[in-house]
Amino acid sequence: MIGPKEDLKPFSITLFILVTLEIIFVLFICPYLWYEVSYIIPMISLQLFIIAHFLMFLTMITDPGIIPRKEVFQAIGEIPDIFTSEGTDKKKFCKTCQIYRPARSNHCRKCDNCVEVFDHHCPFVNACIGKNNYKYFIGMVISLTLLGGMNIAGVILFIFYDGDTGRSSRSLVKNDTFLMAVAVVLALSITFLTALVFCLCIFHMKISMSGETTKEFRLNIKQNQSVAWFGEKSWFHPRLLIQSL
Ligand SMILES: [Zn+2]
Ligand SMILES: [Zn+2]
Repeated sequence: MIGPKEDLKPFSITLFILVTLEIIFVLFICPYLWYEVSYIIPMISLQLFIIAHFLMFLTMITDPGIIPRKEVFQAIGEIPDIFTSEGTDKKKFCKTCQIYRPARSNHCRKCDNCVEVFDHHCPFVNACIGKNNYKYFIGMVISLTLLGGMNIAGVILFIFYDGDTGRSSRSLVKNDTFLMAVAVVLALSITFLTALVFCLCIFHMKISMSGETTKEFRLNIKQNQSVAWFGEKSWFHPRLLIQSL
């Protein structure tokens, strides 16, 4: 399920950045928010962090929809008809896997497997995104966007919220140059990363509602074709949702 070794580097860097930013947020920002503003922001931030990483883990360990190669089918005993001959379903022959792959599937060069309803290979989670793990992938992107938004709100409150200005903790924070510098750098870093993830989130919500995969979207852009929103192929179509459970 997990991608090639060379993708371990972008995945490790992504994980390191996410964990480091959350640790800085928890250590430097959360204590003040918890006692002086509201415990709700630190609580929600931590929950979103856990949810996002749980979904990242599910995205990585779930079979994206790998189609077994011919030799695997032969070892089992028989090759299902769907993978043996060219039908009316725009099947293409994969020279590597030696099978006719169904429409919308594609051979991932990095993982060296054919994947059903292939969306893209994501180096940041080191996995192919396809029929079975797309729902976890989009859930992860949405929860990371919400996490970023929550943490930005927390840091802004930390910097600007005055509340009871007479309290000693407020003036201690206000006069701590190091703490304020950490908060500003953190706010800028999280805002930059959240803007990127937000764009990714909007993109995937758009294509999932229109029923396209990232690969099909790129092809359609090339061929200047449009796919109807909420079409038969939509990820939100009840039949496909039931099938993907
Ligand atoms: Zn293949
Ligand atoms: Zn792949």
